[in-house]
Amino acid sequence: MTDTTLNFLHIARAEPAKLSVDARVSSYTEIYAPLARNDAAQQASRCLDCGNPFCEWKCPVHNHIPSWLKLLEEGRLFEAAELSHRTNSLPEVCGRICPQDRLCEGACTLNDAFGAVTIGSIEKYITDEALKAGWRPDMTEVRSTGKKVAIVGSGPAGLACADILTRNGVKAIVYERQLRIGGLLTFGIPPFKLEKTVVETRREILEGMGVEFRLGVEIGRDVMFEELLADHDAVFMGTGAYKAVEGGFPGEQLPGVYTALNYLISNIHHQLKLSPTQEWINFENKRVVVLGGGDTAMDCNRTAIRQSAQSVTCTYRRGQSDLQGSKRDYQSSVEEGVQFLFNRQPLEIVGDGRVQGVRVAQTRLGSAVSRGRRVIEIIEGTEEIIPADAVIIAFGFNPSPPSWCETQGIALHPDGRIKTSVGLPFQTSHQRVFAGGDMVRGSDLVVTAVFEGREAAQSILRQLGLAQRLSTVNAPISVA
Ligand SMILES: Cc1cc2nc3c(=O)[nH]c(=O)nc-3n(C[C@H](O)[C@H](O)[C@H](O)COP(=O)(O)OP(=O)(O)OC[C@H]3O[C@@H](n4cnc5c(N)ncnc54)[C@H](O)[C@@H]3O)c2cc1C
Ligand code: SF4
Repeated sequence: MTDTTLNFLHIARAEPAKLSVDARVSSYTEIYAPLARNDAAQQASRCLDCGNPFCEWKCPVHNHIPSWLKLLEEGRLFEAAELSHRTNSLPEVCGRICPQDRLCEGACTLNDAFGAVTIGSIEKYITDEALKAGWRPDMTEVRSTGKKVAIVGSGPAGLACADILTRNGVKAIVYERQLRIGGLLTFGIPPFKLEKTVVETRREILEGMGVEFRLGVEIGRDVMFEELLADHDAVFMGTGAYKAVEGGFPGEQLPGVYTALNYLISNIHHQLKLSPTQEWINFENKRVVVLGGGDTAMDCNRTAIRQSAQSVTCTYRRGQSDLQGSKRDYQSSVEEGVQFLFNRQPLEIVGDGRVQGVRVAQTRLGSAVSRGRRVIEIIEGTEEIIPADAVIIAFGFNPSPPSWCETQGIALHPDGRIKTSVGLPFQTSHQRVFAGGDMVRGSDLVVTAVFEGREAAQSILRQLGLAQRLSTVNAPISVA
C-alpha cells in the first residue's frame, strides 16, 4: 500500500463548497455542499498520523480521529462509521456544527503551517454516506437486561444517554415536552446550519435500536417526577438551560424587543409548520438590531437576513477577536450582509410605546481583569442611537432547574446548575437520578452535552450493576 503520510505537502486543505450568498439568503438549506467521495478520501489522506493526536484530546468526546480518517482513505466506510459511533452518538451533527476551529481542527498538528485536516466535514461525510448506503449500528450482540431508565429531555444529552443505555440492553424511554426530538438541535439551531431531516434520520436510527420516545409529555405537568422514579430503575435529566440572560438596561420590555430563543423558535415553528397558532416573529422590511456576539446572536442575524429584513446590525461590547462563537458563523454573517458594530455597550432601548432604537456607547479595554478577561470601560461622549424597528437580545442562557429538584433533594449550585458527580460521574445527590448537558454545565455545546449523556449512561450501568459493552473514555474536558 502507498505511504500517504506526506500527502499534506501536496494536497491543500479544501473545505466543502459553500452555496452562493444569493442562494443562501433566499432559503434555509444548509450552506455547505456534501464532500464528493474522492475529495473526502483525499482530504482524509492529509492526516500525517503524527503519533500524538492532539485533535483527539481536544475533541470533548475523544473521537478516534486519525483511525477513522485512515479507514475512510482506504474506502472502508462502514468500519469508519462503526468506529466513529464508538465515541460519539451524534457524529453527523457534531461534524456540522462543532466549533472545530477551537476544538479538533484548532489542535491539528498541520493547523499552523499547512491548514488543519477538515475533520468536521469528514466526520459528517462518514455518517451521512454510511447511513445512505444502509449502515446501521450493530445491535446483534445486545441482550435485554430487563432494566428500564427514564430520560427527561431529547436534546443531545438525552439522546446520547439513550444511545449508550440501549446498546447495553437497558430500555431507554425518552420523555419530551415538544412534539419533535432534538431539543435545541430542532428548536434553536437554524436549518441553514443543521437541517431538521438530519435529526429525524437520527430519530429513526435510535427507534430502530429500541429507544422509545414519548413526545408531547412534560414531566412535572403531564407526568410527575415521582411517578418516573417509581416506574423506572433510574432517571437521567437533560432538560437544558432556557432562562434568557437579561441586559439589565431600560427599555427591555418595550414591544418590538425579543429574546433570541423566542425569535428562533417561532421561526422554526413557522418553517416546520408545527403549530399554526404560535405567533411568527417576522422581520421582513424591518431594521433589526441584534445585541450579543455568540453563536445565538449569529443565528439570529442570519435568520433575520433570510426573512428579508431591511438591515441587520449586530452590536458587541468587545472587539472582533473576542467574539465567543464560531469564526465560521461570523464569517458567514458578514458574507450574508450583517453589519457589525464592535466595542459598543448597549445602555438603553429607546422608543415611545414601541422600540425605535438602541442607545449605545463606545468601549475600550480597561486594565482590570475579571474572570480572566480585561473588563471594558465606556468612553465618555461617544453615545449614539442606532435606529431599530426590532431588537433581539442574545446574551445567552442560564440554567432553569425544574421545580422537582427541590422536592426530591437534588442539590443545585448557587447559579441553578445541577450538582453532579456527587458519587459516580454525573450522579446527582439523589442516588437514582443522573444529569448532564446544559443543565449541568450551563449553556455550552452539543458535543459536551453528548459527552455528558454518554458518561452518565456509563454511571447508570454501574449503579444498576450491569457490565458495559461499549465504553467511552476519560474524564470531562473543559472547553475554552
Ligand atoms: C441558537 C443556538 C445556537 C447554537 N448553536 C450551536 C452550535 O452551532 N454548535 C454547538 O455545539 N452548540 C450550539 N448551541 C448549544 C447547543 O444547542 C446546546 O449546548 C445543546 O443543545 C445542549 O443540549 P441538552 O441536551 O443539554 O439540552 P437541550 O438541547 O436544550 O434539550 C433539552 C430538552 O429537554 C426538554 N425538556 C425540558 N424540560 C422538560 C420537561 N420537564 N419534560 C420533558 N422535556 C423537557 C426540552 O424541550 C428539550 O428538548 C446553540 C444553542 C442555541 C440556543
Ligand atoms: S465531535 Fe466535534 S470536536 Fe470532536 S472530532 Fe467531531 S467535530 Fe471535532
